[in-house]
Amino acid sequence: MSIRARFAPSPTGQVHIGNIRAAIFNWLFARNQKGNFLLRIEDTDLERSTPEAIATLLDVMEWLGLDFDEKPPLYQTSQLQNHLDAVQKLLDKGDAYKDSKGGGEEAVIFKIPWDAERIPGVADTGTIQVPVHPEVPVVVSFKGVDYAGVSAKGKPAPGGACLAGFKNLKVLDAEGKVLFDIAGKEEQILDGSLVVELPGAAKLDFTRRTITYHDLVKGDMSKPLDSMRDVVIVRSDGTPVFHIANVVDDITQKITHIIRGDDHVENTFRHIMMFTCLGAKVPKYGHLPMIVNAAGKPYSKRDGDAFVGDFRDKGFLPEALLNYLALLGWSPGDEREKMSRDDLIEAFSLERVLHAAAQMDIQKLTNLNGQYIAEMEPNAFKEMATKFLQVHDWGKDLDDEYLTKVCNLMQSRLKKFADVDQWKYFFADQVEFDEKNLAKQFKEPATRDAIVKIRSAFEAIDFNAEAIETAIHSVTDELGIGQGKLNQPIRGAVTGVGIGAGIYETLELLGKETTLERLDEFLAKY
Ligand code: GLU
Repeated sequence: MSIRARFAPSPTGQVHIGNIRAAIFNWLFARNQKGNFLLRIEDTDLERSTPEAIATLLDVMEWLGLDFDEKPPLYQTSQLQNHLDAVQKLLDKGDAYKDSKGGGEEAVIFKIPWDAERIPGVADTGTIQVPVHPEVPVVVSFKGVDYAGVSAKGKPAPGGACLAGFKNLKVLDAEGKVLFDIAGKEEQILDGSLVVELPGAAKLDFTRRTITYHDLVKGDMSKPLDSMRDVVIVRSDGTPVFHIANVVDDITQKITHIIRGDDHVENTFRHIMMFTCLGAKVPKYGHLPMIVNAAGKPYSKRDGDAFVGDFRDKGFLPEALLNYLALLGWSPGDEREKMSRDDLIEAFSLERVLHAAAQMDIQKLTNLNGQYIAEMEPNAFKEMATKFLQVHDWGKDLDDEYLTKVCNLMQSRLKKFADVDQWKYFFADQVEFDEKNLAKQFKEPATRDAIVKIRSAFEAIDFNAEAIETAIHSVTDELGIGQGKLNQPIRGAVTGVGIGAGIYETLELLGKETTLERLDEFLAKY
Protein backbone atom coordinates (compact mmCIF):
# COMPACT_ATOMS: atom_id res chain seq x y z
CA MET A 1 0.00 0.00 0.00
CA SER A 2 1.31 3.42 -0.77
CA ILE A 3 2.11 5.63 2.16
CA ARG A 4 -0.28 8.18 3.57
CA ALA A 5 1.15 11.04 5.60
CA ARG A 6 -0.65 14.00 7.04
CA PHE A 7 -0.27 17.40 8.62
CA ALA A 8 -2.66 17.84 11.53
CA PRO A 9 -2.33 21.35 12.91
CA SER A 10 -4.50 23.00 15.52
CA PRO A 11 -5.01 26.42 13.94
CA THR A 12 -4.44 29.27 16.35
CA GLY A 13 -4.12 32.29 14.07
CA GLN A 14 -0.44 32.47 13.33
CA VAL A 15 1.55 29.57 11.93
CA HIS A 16 4.83 28.96 13.75
CA ILE A 17 7.78 27.91 11.61
CA GLY A 18 8.17 24.76 13.75
CA ASN A 19 4.66 23.77 12.85
CA ILE A 20 4.97 24.44 9.16
CA ARG A 21 8.24 22.54 9.12
CA ALA A 22 6.27 19.47 10.23
CA ALA A 23 4.01 20.08 7.22
CA ILE A 24 7.03 20.44 4.94
CA PHE A 25 8.62 17.19 6.12
CA ASN A 26 5.35 15.29 5.71
CA TRP A 27 4.83 16.79 2.27
CA LEU A 28 8.40 16.00 1.17
CA PHE A 29 8.12 12.48 2.53
CA ALA A 30 4.79 11.82 0.80
CA ARG A 31 5.90 13.31 -2.50
CA ASN A 32 9.21 11.45 -2.37
CA GLN A 33 7.39 8.17 -1.72
CA LYS A 34 4.74 8.95 -4.34
CA GLY A 35 2.16 8.57 -1.62
CA ASN A 36 -0.54 10.90 -0.33
CA PHE A 37 -0.19 14.00 1.75
CA LEU A 38 -3.38 14.82 3.66
CA LEU A 39 -4.44 17.77 5.69
CA ARG A 40 -6.48 17.49 8.85
CA ILE A 41 -7.53 20.56 10.67
CA GLU A 42 -7.71 19.84 14.39
CA ASP A 43 -10.18 22.59 15.07
CA THR A 44 -11.76 21.31 18.27
CA ASP A 45 -10.53 24.24 20.35
CA LEU A 46 -13.39 26.45 19.29
CA GLU A 47 -12.01 29.56 20.91
CA ARG A 48 -8.73 29.53 19.04
CA SER A 49 -9.68 27.70 15.84
CA THR A 50 -11.64 30.58 14.37
CA PRO A 51 -12.49 30.74 10.66
CA GLU A 52 -9.76 33.40 10.35
CA ALA A 53 -7.19 31.10 11.96
CA ILE A 54 -8.12 28.32 9.54
CA ALA A 55 -7.99 30.71 6.59
CA THR A 56 -4.50 31.83 7.65
CA LEU A 57 -3.33 28.25 7.81
CA LEU A 58 -4.66 27.37 4.36
CA ASP A 59 -3.22 30.56 2.94
CA VAL A 60 0.23 29.84 4.37
CA MET A 61 0.18 26.33 2.95
CA GLU A 62 -0.80 27.58 -0.46
CA TRP A 63 1.86 30.31 -0.34
CA LEU A 64 4.52 27.70 0.37
CA GLY A 65 3.16 25.41 -2.33
CA LEU A 66 2.33 22.60 0.10
CA ASP A 67 -0.43 21.09 -1.98
CA PHE A 68 -2.42 18.37 -0.28
CA ASP A 69 -4.46 15.49 -1.60
CA GLU A 70 -8.09 14.49 -1.07
CA LYS A 71 -9.68 17.91 -0.76
CA PRO A 72 -11.40 19.31 1.21
CA PRO A 73 -9.27 18.73 4.30
CA LEU A 74 -10.75 16.74 7.15
CA TYR A 75 -12.10 19.03 9.85
CA GLN A 76 -11.85 17.36 13.22
CA THR A 77 -15.06 18.97 14.47
CA SER A 78 -16.96 17.11 11.72
CA GLN A 79 -15.83 13.81 13.20
CA LEU A 80 -17.44 14.11 16.64
CA GLN A 81 -19.79 11.18 16.17
CA ASN A 82 -16.92 9.05 14.96
CA HIS A 83 -14.93 9.90 18.08
CA LEU A 84 -17.85 9.08 20.38
CA ASP A 85 -18.50 5.81 18.53
CA ALA A 86 -14.88 4.82 19.08
CA VAL A 87 -15.17 5.67 22.77
CA GLN A 88 -18.26 3.50 23.00
CA LYS A 89 -16.36 0.67 21.34
CA LEU A 90 -13.61 0.97 23.95
CA LEU A 91 -16.19 1.02 26.76
CA ASP A 92 -17.93 -2.04 25.32
CA LYS A 93 -14.68 -3.97 25.13
CA GLY A 94 -13.64 -3.01 28.64
CA ASP A 95 -10.77 -0.88 27.38
CA ALA A 96 -12.27 2.23 28.92
CA TYR A 97 -14.28 3.07 32.00
CA LYS A 98 -16.39 5.92 33.27
CA ASP A 99 -15.27 7.84 36.26
CA SER A 100 -16.75 10.74 38.15
CA LYS A 101 -14.05 12.12 40.33
CA GLY A 102 -15.79 13.59 43.36
CA GLY A 103 -19.32 13.02 41.99
CA GLY A 104 -20.73 15.16 39.19
CA GLU A 105 -20.64 14.25 35.52
CA GLU A 106 -18.64 11.27 34.37
CA ALA A 107 -15.48 11.41 32.31
CA VAL A 108 -14.38 8.44 30.18
CA ILE A 109 -10.93 7.03 30.82
CA PHE A 110 -8.94 4.82 28.47
CA LYS A 111 -7.59 1.86 30.41
CA ILE A 112 -4.08 0.77 29.62
CA PRO A 113 -4.79 -2.95 29.12
CA TRP A 114 -3.90 -5.34 31.91
CA ASP A 115 -3.12 -7.90 29.24
CA ALA A 116 -0.69 -5.39 27.80
CA GLU A 117 1.18 -8.02 25.79
CA ARG A 118 -1.44 -7.59 23.07
CA ILE A 119 -0.01 -4.14 22.41
CA PRO A 120 2.84 -4.29 19.88
CA GLY A 121 6.15 -3.44 21.53
CA VAL A 122 5.17 -4.30 25.10
CA ALA A 123 7.62 -6.63 26.85
CA ASP A 124 8.60 -7.69 30.36
CA THR A 125 11.85 -6.11 31.40
CA GLY A 126 12.42 -7.86 34.73
CA THR A 127 11.33 -7.70 38.33
CA ILE A 128 11.84 -4.47 40.17
CA GLN A 129 11.18 -3.07 43.60
CA VAL A 130 10.04 0.47 44.23
CA PRO A 131 10.11 1.99 47.73
CA VAL A 132 6.85 3.59 48.89
CA HIS A 133 6.27 5.98 51.76
CA PRO A 134 4.62 4.15 54.68
CA GLU A 135 2.65 7.22 55.77
CA VAL A 136 0.49 7.08 52.66
CA PRO A 137 -1.54 3.89 52.13
CA VAL A 138 -1.12 2.02 48.85
CA VAL A 139 -4.45 1.70 47.02
CA VAL A 140 -4.86 -0.99 44.36
CA SER A 141 -7.91 -0.86 42.08
CA PHE A 142 -8.77 -1.22 38.39
CA LYS A 143 -7.94 2.49 38.08
CA GLY A 144 -4.34 1.85 39.00
CA VAL A 145 -1.96 1.65 41.91
CA ASP A 146 -1.83 4.83 43.97
CA TYR A 147 1.04 5.32 46.35
CA ALA A 148 3.52 7.92 47.51
CA GLY A 149 7.12 7.42 46.51
CA VAL A 150 10.00 8.45 48.73
CA SER A 151 11.81 11.71 47.98
CA ALA A 152 15.57 12.19 48.39
CA LYS A 153 14.79 13.78 51.76
CA GLY A 154 12.64 10.84 52.81
CA LYS A 155 9.36 12.70 52.30
CA PRO A 156 6.32 11.36 50.41
CA ALA A 157 6.68 12.08 46.69
CA PRO A 158 3.90 11.85 44.07
CA GLY A 159 3.61 8.33 42.69
CA GLY A 160 1.07 6.03 41.13
CA ALA A 161 0.35 4.62 37.70
CA CYS A 162 -2.05 2.43 35.75
CA LEU A 163 -2.74 -1.05 37.04
CA ALA A 164 -1.12 -2.56 33.95
CA GLY A 165 2.17 -1.10 35.14
CA PHE A 166 2.32 -3.63 37.98
CA LYS A 167 2.26 -7.15 36.63
CA ASN A 168 2.70 -9.78 39.39
CA LEU A 169 2.35 -7.04 42.01
CA LYS A 170 3.25 -7.76 45.60
CA VAL A 171 3.08 -5.07 48.25
CA LEU A 172 5.58 -5.56 51.09
CA ASP A 173 6.09 -3.94 54.48
CA ALA A 174 9.44 -2.81 55.88
CA GLU A 175 10.22 -6.33 57.12
CA GLY A 176 9.55 -7.84 53.73
CA LYS A 177 6.21 -9.34 54.78
CA VAL A 178 3.77 -9.61 51.85
CA LEU A 179 0.78 -7.38 52.58
CA PHE A 180 -0.86 -8.04 49.24
CA ASP A 181 -0.28 -10.33 46.25
CA ILE A 182 -2.32 -9.72 43.11
CA ALA A 183 -2.03 -13.36 42.03
CA GLY A 184 -5.51 -14.87 41.90
CA LYS A 185 -7.18 -11.52 42.58
CA GLU A 186 -6.74 -9.96 39.15
CA GLU A 187 -10.29 -10.61 38.06
CA GLN A 188 -11.88 -9.08 41.13
CA ILE A 189 -9.63 -6.06 40.90
CA LEU A 190 -10.31 -5.66 37.20
CA ASP A 191 -14.10 -5.93 37.49
CA GLY A 192 -14.06 -3.35 40.28
CA SER A 193 -15.40 -5.67 42.98
CA LEU A 194 -12.15 -5.42 44.91
CA VAL A 195 -10.32 -2.27 45.97
CA VAL A 196 -7.46 -2.79 48.39
CA GLU A 197 -6.11 -0.14 50.72
CA LEU A 198 -2.82 -1.00 52.40
CA PRO A 199 -1.40 1.16 55.18
CA GLY A 200 2.17 0.66 56.32
CA ALA A 201 3.54 -0.57 52.99
CA ALA A 202 7.23 -0.05 52.26
CA LYS A 203 7.81 -1.61 48.86
CA LEU A 204 6.14 -2.56 45.62
CA ASP A 205 7.56 -5.63 43.96
CA PHE A 206 6.45 -6.26 40.38
CA THR A 207 7.37 -7.29 36.87
CA ARG A 208 8.08 -4.16 34.90
CA ARG A 209 6.63 -3.99 31.41
CA THR A 210 7.90 -1.50 28.91
CA ILE A 211 6.42 -0.31 25.65
CA THR A 212 8.91 0.31 22.86
CA TYR A 213 8.34 1.63 19.37
CA HIS A 214 10.81 2.35 16.63
CA ASP A 215 10.81 6.05 15.80
CA LEU A 216 11.86 6.68 12.20
CA VAL A 217 13.82 9.71 13.36
CA LYS A 218 14.81 9.02 16.95
CA GLY A 219 15.30 5.27 16.91
CA ASP A 220 13.88 2.98 19.62
CA MET A 221 11.83 4.82 22.22
CA SER A 222 10.68 3.13 25.43
CA LYS A 223 8.52 3.85 28.42
CA PRO A 224 7.77 1.66 31.43
CA LEU A 225 4.06 1.10 31.96
CA ASP A 226 4.49 1.86 35.66
CA SER A 227 5.21 5.46 34.65
CA MET A 228 1.94 5.81 32.73
CA ARG A 229 -1.56 6.56 33.88
CA ASP A 230 -4.85 5.71 32.25
CA VAL A 231 -5.88 8.51 29.93
CA VAL A 232 -8.99 10.71 30.02
CA ILE A 233 -10.56 10.47 26.57
CA VAL A 234 -13.89 12.22 27.15
CA ARG A 235 -14.18 15.12 29.56
CA SER A 236 -17.03 15.23 32.04
CA ASP A 237 -18.72 17.79 29.77
CA GLY A 238 -18.91 15.10 27.07
CA THR A 239 -16.25 16.48 24.73
CA PRO A 240 -13.60 14.08 23.40
CA VAL A 241 -10.00 14.83 24.32
CA PHE A 242 -7.17 15.39 21.80
CA HIS A 243 -5.79 11.85 22.18
CA ILE A 244 -8.86 9.98 21.04
CA ALA A 245 -9.80 12.49 18.35
CA ASN A 246 -6.28 12.41 16.95
CA VAL A 247 -6.08 8.62 16.89
CA VAL A 248 -9.58 8.06 15.49
CA ASP A 249 -9.00 10.61 12.73
CA ASP A 250 -5.70 8.96 11.82
CA ILE A 251 -7.60 5.68 11.52
CA THR A 252 -10.33 7.35 9.44
CA GLN A 253 -7.76 8.91 7.12
CA LYS A 254 -5.88 5.57 6.91
CA ILE A 255 -2.64 7.28 7.87
CA THR A 256 0.42 5.06 7.57
CA HIS A 257 3.09 7.54 8.75
CA ILE A 258 2.80 10.15 11.47
CA ILE A 259 5.54 12.75 11.32
CA ARG A 260 5.23 15.49 13.91
CA GLY A 261 7.07 17.50 16.54
CA ASP A 262 8.84 15.60 19.30
CA ASP A 263 6.62 17.20 21.92
CA HIS A 264 4.28 14.34 20.97
CA VAL A 265 6.63 11.45 21.81
CA GLU A 266 5.02 10.99 25.22
CA ASN A 267 1.57 10.81 23.67
CA THR A 268 2.71 8.25 21.14
CA PHE A 269 3.01 5.45 23.70
CA ARG A 270 -0.65 5.95 24.66
CA HIS A 271 -1.75 6.41 21.07
CA ILE A 272 -0.18 3.08 20.05
CA MET A 273 -2.33 1.41 22.71
CA MET A 274 -5.47 3.18 21.50
CA PHE A 275 -4.85 2.18 17.87
CA THR A 276 -4.49 -1.42 18.99
CA CYS A 277 -7.53 -1.43 21.24
CA LEU A 278 -9.59 0.05 18.41
CA GLY A 279 -8.47 -2.83 16.20
CA ALA A 280 -6.36 -0.65 13.89
CA LYS A 281 -2.84 -1.14 12.63
CA VAL A 282 -0.38 1.13 14.41
CA PRO A 283 1.14 3.66 11.98
CA LYS A 284 4.85 4.34 11.80
CA TYR A 285 6.05 7.37 13.71
CA GLY A 286 8.80 9.90 13.19
CA HIS A 287 9.27 12.74 15.65
CA LEU A 288 11.08 15.87 14.61
CA PRO A 289 13.50 17.60 16.95
CA MET A 290 12.37 21.10 17.64
CA ILE A 291 13.68 24.39 16.33
CA VAL A 292 15.74 26.21 18.95
CA ASN A 293 17.35 29.62 19.44
CA ALA A 294 21.07 30.28 19.91
CA ALA A 295 20.75 29.33 23.58
CA GLY A 296 19.20 25.97 22.68
CA LYS A 297 15.74 26.96 23.96
CA PRO A 298 12.56 26.50 21.88
CA TYR A 299 12.56 29.17 19.21
CA SER A 300 9.78 31.65 19.87
CA LYS A 301 8.51 35.07 18.96
CA ARG A 302 10.85 36.52 21.59
CA ASP A 303 13.81 35.38 19.48
CA GLY A 304 12.64 37.25 16.38
CA ASP A 305 10.39 36.34 13.50
CA ALA A 306 8.76 33.03 14.31
CA PHE A 307 5.60 32.94 12.22
CA VAL A 308 5.41 32.22 8.52
CA GLY A 309 3.47 35.47 8.06
CA ASP A 310 6.38 37.47 9.53
CA PHE A 311 8.69 36.18 6.83
CA ARG A 312 6.18 36.76 4.10
CA ASP A 313 5.62 40.33 5.28
CA LYS A 314 9.35 41.02 5.25
CA GLY A 315 9.70 39.90 1.68
CA PHE A 316 11.08 36.40 1.99
CA LEU A 317 10.22 34.22 -0.99
CA PRO A 318 8.24 31.05 -0.39
CA GLU A 319 10.81 28.90 -2.23
CA ALA A 320 13.59 30.27 -0.02
CA LEU A 321 11.69 29.72 3.22
CA LEU A 322 10.69 26.22 2.11
CA ASN A 323 14.28 25.43 1.15
CA TYR A 324 15.64 26.80 4.42
CA LEU A 325 13.12 25.04 6.67
CA ALA A 326 13.57 21.74 4.81
CA LEU A 327 17.27 21.89 5.59
CA LEU A 328 16.67 22.93 9.16
CA GLY A 329 17.05 19.57 10.81
CA TRP A 330 17.45 17.52 7.64
CA SER A 331 20.37 17.11 5.32
CA PRO A 332 20.48 15.78 1.77
CA GLY A 333 23.70 13.97 2.67
CA ASP A 334 25.88 16.24 0.56
CA GLU A 335 26.95 19.86 0.58
CA ARG A 336 23.92 21.29 -1.18
CA GLU A 337 22.21 24.18 0.58
CA LYS A 338 20.21 25.76 -2.20
CA MET A 339 17.73 23.19 -3.40
CA SER A 340 14.66 23.53 -5.55
CA ARG A 341 11.34 21.99 -4.66
CA ASP A 342 12.05 19.04 -6.99
CA ASP A 343 15.58 18.55 -5.64
CA LEU A 344 14.18 18.44 -2.12
CA ILE A 345 11.49 15.94 -3.04
CA GLU A 346 13.97 13.71 -4.76
CA ALA A 347 16.54 13.77 -1.96
CA PHE A 348 14.23 13.62 1.06
CA SER A 349 14.36 10.71 3.48
CA LEU A 350 13.41 10.46 7.11
CA GLU A 351 16.64 8.60 7.90
CA ARG A 352 18.55 11.80 7.35
CA VAL A 353 16.46 13.93 9.67
CA LEU A 354 18.99 15.07 12.24
CA HIS A 355 18.64 13.90 15.81
CA ALA A 356 19.75 17.10 17.48
CA ALA A 357 17.55 20.17 17.83
CA ALA A 358 17.84 22.49 14.84
CA GLN A 359 19.09 26.00 15.46
CA MET A 360 17.32 28.80 13.65
CA ASP A 361 19.75 31.08 11.84
CA ILE A 362 17.96 34.10 10.38
CA GLN A 363 21.15 35.34 8.74
CA LYS A 364 21.56 32.12 6.82
CA LEU A 365 17.93 32.23 5.73
CA THR A 366 18.36 35.85 4.69
CA ASN A 367 21.40 35.04 2.57
CA LEU A 368 19.61 32.13 0.95
CA ASN A 369 16.65 34.39 0.24
CA GLY A 370 19.07 36.82 -1.41
CA GLN A 371 20.20 34.05 -3.75
CA TYR A 372 16.61 33.34 -4.75
CA ILE A 373 15.90 37.03 -5.26
CA ALA A 374 18.99 37.41 -7.44
CA GLU A 375 17.64 34.69 -9.72
CA MET A 376 14.18 36.16 -10.13
CA GLU A 377 12.93 37.09 -13.54
CA PRO A 378 13.52 40.90 -13.68
CA ASN A 379 9.86 41.78 -14.23
CA ALA A 380 8.73 39.63 -11.34
CA PHE A 381 11.42 41.24 -9.23
CA LYS A 382 10.24 44.70 -10.18
CA GLU A 383 6.65 43.82 -9.41
CA MET A 384 7.52 42.59 -5.93
CA ALA A 385 9.85 45.54 -5.28
CA THR A 386 7.05 47.91 -6.32
CA LYS A 387 4.71 46.34 -3.76
CA PHE A 388 7.23 46.83 -1.01
CA LEU A 389 8.16 50.34 -2.15
CA GLN A 390 4.56 51.47 -2.17
CA VAL A 391 4.26 51.33 1.59
CA HIS A 392 6.64 54.29 1.78
CA ASP A 393 5.39 57.78 0.97
CA TRP A 394 8.49 58.27 -1.21
CA GLY A 395 7.92 54.95 -2.96
CA LYS A 396 4.60 55.55 -4.66
CA ASP A 397 3.94 56.46 -8.32
CA LEU A 398 7.55 56.05 -9.38
CA ASP A 399 8.87 56.76 -12.85
CA ASP A 400 8.81 53.39 -14.54
CA GLU A 401 11.99 53.70 -16.55
CA TYR A 402 13.98 54.96 -13.58
CA LEU A 403 12.52 52.26 -11.33
CA THR A 404 13.51 49.60 -13.85
CA LYS A 405 17.09 50.88 -13.78
CA VAL A 406 17.17 50.95 -9.98
CA CYS A 407 15.81 47.41 -9.91
CA ASN A 408 18.41 46.22 -12.41
CA LEU A 409 21.17 47.75 -10.33
CA MET A 410 19.91 46.52 -6.96
CA GLN A 411 18.37 43.09 -7.61
CA SER A 412 21.51 41.07 -6.99
CA ARG A 413 22.09 42.85 -3.68
CA LEU A 414 18.65 42.71 -2.13
CA LYS A 415 18.34 40.02 0.54
CA LYS A 416 14.67 40.53 1.36
CA PHE A 417 12.10 42.81 -0.17
CA ALA A 418 11.38 44.86 2.94
CA ASP A 419 14.96 46.11 2.59
CA VAL A 420 13.86 48.30 -0.31
CA ASP A 421 13.35 50.82 2.50
CA GLN A 422 17.11 51.35 2.03
CA TRP A 423 16.50 52.59 -1.51
CA LYS A 424 15.07 55.86 -0.30
CA TYR A 425 18.04 57.85 -1.66
CA PHE A 426 17.11 56.86 -5.20
CA PHE A 427 13.64 58.34 -4.93
CA ALA A 428 13.34 60.89 -2.13
CA ASP A 429 14.24 64.53 -2.62
CA GLN A 430 16.16 64.71 0.60
CA VAL A 431 18.65 62.15 1.88
CA GLU A 432 18.81 61.17 5.49
CA PHE A 433 22.39 61.19 6.62
CA ASP A 434 23.62 58.27 8.66
CA GLU A 435 25.61 60.31 11.18
CA LYS A 436 27.57 57.36 12.50
CA ASN A 437 28.70 56.38 9.03
CA LEU A 438 29.64 59.96 8.16
CA ALA A 439 31.66 60.34 11.37
CA LYS A 440 33.59 57.23 10.36
CA GLN A 441 34.10 58.25 6.72
CA PHE A 442 35.06 61.84 7.49
CA LYS A 443 37.41 61.30 10.41
CA GLU A 444 40.19 63.03 8.47
CA PRO A 445 39.42 66.70 7.72
CA ALA A 446 41.21 66.25 4.37
CA THR A 447 38.40 63.94 3.23
CA ARG A 448 35.91 66.81 3.17
CA ASP A 449 38.39 68.88 1.11
CA ALA A 450 38.62 65.98 -1.31
CA ILE A 451 34.84 65.97 -1.67
CA VAL A 452 34.99 69.65 -2.66
CA LYS A 453 37.43 68.72 -5.43
CA ILE A 454 35.31 65.79 -6.51
CA ARG A 455 32.33 68.07 -6.79
CA SER A 456 34.07 70.36 -9.23
CA ALA A 457 35.51 67.43 -11.18
CA PHE A 458 31.97 66.02 -11.54
CA GLU A 459 30.66 69.32 -12.80
CA ALA A 460 32.92 69.17 -15.84
CA ILE A 461 32.20 65.61 -17.03
CA ASP A 462 29.72 63.71 -19.09
CA PHE A 463 28.06 61.83 -16.20
CA ASN A 464 28.48 58.12 -16.85
CA ALA A 465 30.01 55.42 -14.66
CA GLU A 466 33.27 55.33 -16.54
CA ALA A 467 33.77 59.09 -16.53
CA ILE A 468 32.77 59.24 -12.88
CA GLU A 469 35.39 56.64 -12.03
CA THR A 470 38.07 58.51 -14.00
CA ALA A 471 37.14 61.79 -12.32
CA ILE A 472 37.41 60.23 -8.86
CA HIS A 473 40.75 58.63 -9.72
CA SER A 474 42.15 61.93 -10.93
CA VAL A 475 41.33 63.49 -7.56
CA THR A 476 42.79 60.61 -5.55
CA ASP A 477 45.93 60.71 -7.71
CA GLU A 478 46.25 64.45 -7.28
CA LEU A 479 45.91 64.17 -3.50
CA GLY A 480 48.15 61.14 -3.32
CA ILE A 481 45.56 58.92 -1.63
CA GLY A 482 44.79 55.35 -2.52
CA GLN A 483 42.37 54.68 -5.38
CA GLY A 484 38.95 53.83 -4.01
CA LYS A 485 39.63 55.52 -0.68
CA LEU A 486 37.04 58.18 -1.47
CA ASN A 487 34.31 55.85 -2.65
CA GLN A 488 32.69 55.33 0.73
CA PRO A 489 32.87 59.02 1.77
CA ILE A 490 31.26 59.94 -1.57
CA ARG A 491 28.57 57.33 -1.01
CA GLY A 492 27.93 58.68 2.48
CA ALA A 493 27.68 62.24 1.19
CA VAL A 494 25.41 61.48 -1.77
CA THR A 495 23.21 58.61 -0.56
CA GLY A 496 23.43 59.24 3.18
CA VAL A 497 24.09 55.55 3.85
CA GLY A 498 27.07 53.23 4.02
CA ILE A 499 26.01 50.41 1.71
CA GLY A 500 24.66 50.03 -1.78
CA ALA A 501 25.60 48.99 -5.28
CA GLY A 502 28.84 50.06 -6.98
CA ILE A 503 29.26 53.78 -6.38
CA TYR A 504 29.99 54.74 -10.02
CA GLU A 505 26.83 53.06 -11.28
CA THR A 506 24.83 54.46 -8.38
CA LEU A 507 25.91 58.02 -9.15
CA GLU A 508 25.25 57.61 -12.86
CA LEU A 509 21.75 56.46 -12.08
CA LEU A 510 21.10 59.31 -9.68
CA GLY A 511 22.31 61.70 -12.38
CA LYS A 512 24.55 64.67 -12.36
CA GLU A 513 22.02 67.16 -11.10
CA THR A 514 20.98 65.13 -8.07
CA THR A 515 24.56 64.14 -7.28
CA LEU A 516 25.74 67.75 -7.28
CA GLU A 517 22.74 68.87 -5.24
CA ARG A 518 23.38 66.18 -2.67
CA LEU A 519 27.07 67.04 -2.47
CA ASP A 520 26.14 70.70 -1.93
CA GLU A 521 23.68 69.74 0.74
CA PHE A 522 26.32 67.66 2.43
CA LEU A 523 28.98 70.37 2.24
CA ALA A 524 26.55 72.93 3.62
CA LYS A 525 25.76 70.72 6.55
CA TYR A 526 29.12 69.25 7.51
N1 GLU B 1 -2.93 19.14 16.47
C1 GLU B 1 -1.75 18.56 17.00
C2 GLU B 1 -0.64 19.58 17.02
O1 GLU B 1 -0.69 20.53 16.26
C3 GLU B 1 -1.46 17.38 16.11
C4 GLU B 1 -0.31 16.59 16.37
C5 GLU B 1 -0.14 15.46 15.36
O2 GLU B 1 0.44 15.73 14.31
O3 GLU B 1 -0.58 14.36 15.63
O4 GLU B 1 0.25 19.50 17.82
